[in-house]
Amino acid sequence: MESIWSKFDEKQLADLEVFAREYKTFLDGAKIEREQVRDSIKLARAKGFKELNEYTSLNAGDKVYVNNRDKALALFVIGNKDLREGMNILGAHIDSPRLDLKQVPLYEDGTSALAMMDTHYYGGIKKYQWTVHPLAIHGVVAKKDGSIVDVCIGEDEKDPVVGVSEILIHLSAQQLSKNAATVIEGEDLNLVVGSIPLKGEEKEPVKKAILKILKDKYDIEEADFLSAELEVVPAFKARDFGLDASMIIAYGQDDKICAYTSLRALLDVEQCERTSCCILVDKEEVGSNGNSGMHSRFFENAVAEILALSGDYNDLLLRRCLSNSRMLSSDVSAAYDPNYPSVFEAKNTAFLGKGIVFNKYTGSRGKSGCNDANAEFIAKVRRVMDDNGIGFQTAELGKVDAGGGGTIAYILANLNMDVIDAGVGVLNMHSCYEISSKADLYEAYRAYMAFLKDMD
Ligand code: MN
Ligand code: MN
Repeated sequence: MESIWSKFDEKQLADLEVFAREYKTFLDGAKIEREQVRDSIKLARAKGFKELNEYTSLNAGDKVYVNNRDKALALFVIGNKDLREGMNILGAHIDSPRLDLKQVPLYEDGTSALAMMDTHYYGGIKKYQWTVHPLAIHGVVAKKDGSIVDVCIGEDEKDPVVGVSEILIHLSAQQLSKNAATVIEGEDLNLVVGSIPLKGEEKEPVKKAILKILKDKYDIEEADFLSAELEVVPAFKARDFGLDASMIIAYGQDDKICAYTSLRALLDVEQCERTSCCILVDKEEVGSNGNSGMHSRFFENAVAEILALSGDYNDLLLRRCLSNSRMLSSDVSAAYDPNYPSVFEAKNTAFLGKGIVFNKYTGSRGKSGCNDANAEFIAKVRRVMDDNGIGFQTAELGKVDAGGGGTIAYILANLNMDVIDAGVGVLNMHSCYEISSKADLYEAYRAYMAFLKDMD
């Protein structure tokens, strides 16, 4: 499979740059799931989407979304065909690996008199990659009176940032003899957040000074951390990568590169024969559980509501609709890394710049936990891609026995629909700075559009 860069004409190359710029802007504004939902709704409303409860009935051409707790979103463009014939679905996740503040995070280290915050990492990370960097704090504090304080500290150039300190090389003799898995322990991922003592205070004066800042600036009390979701992410804006600026380096491209391309495809597709749907979910990086994860009944409930507003709901119709649906589980794939060839098997590996990646199966240790897409369905997907001139590649996640991973694919497949993993290859996956190809970004968007339009 050749590089897809050479197949684009001048107009497509210009479109691709515009798309990449819009993607980078979107990433910078929405680094966590709540911000992704907020900004996705903004884009959708600008395209004429309305919330479910704004409709009294739904007809072909209507554009509707369902917001689940500000952390997951399902959007639909109602098609001409009866819903019981199924939908064409794109599904991606909008959570990414990070450090979460603990429920009781703030303390003062007695020896150094530095104020610190305790974290618990979220998702699969190499812990040693998360020290040293400037980090930002995003999320919400929910107060007892029902009000919500939105927090975003460290993204504005004028904001301070925080970070996890790490020992200097000069004193690392013992640390460097440790195994990489334990060289930084989870319990040692503590943020340094302050150093000025509050005047007149004897006990924990630096911690008290930080609490005063939180009170003055955000009206947050220490106890309010108990009902907060504060996520610590790299304070780094998406940038072009490579001397030819052909790639993008950014935090959280797993899986926001697929979420953005899926969302844009749904927003840009005109009304189709089959109902089009885009699902953006939380909690994939920790097993898709909980009420905002893909295992939640949220999606089935949303489809039931759509059927009801289309004039025709019963349980059998819902089951028919789901089992007649087809889905691309849009998630990133491991791109071949020339620095680490030993973990890849080149014939069955994704490469940067070679188009959207289809994974028939993921899983680990003998495909365990995988969704293994049916051959007949893959044949249909191939036809749709070829008919639309989409550059695609097929891949596994590294060599057999090298490791593995999973996606939300199997969860939708368990509803008895046809599902295949389809996404973008990235380097540095799950690190603070993931790298993708602009060509693959653009091709994924085109592939998702083709799927919504032409999959039957
Ligand atoms: Mn992912
Ligand atoms: Mn992941």
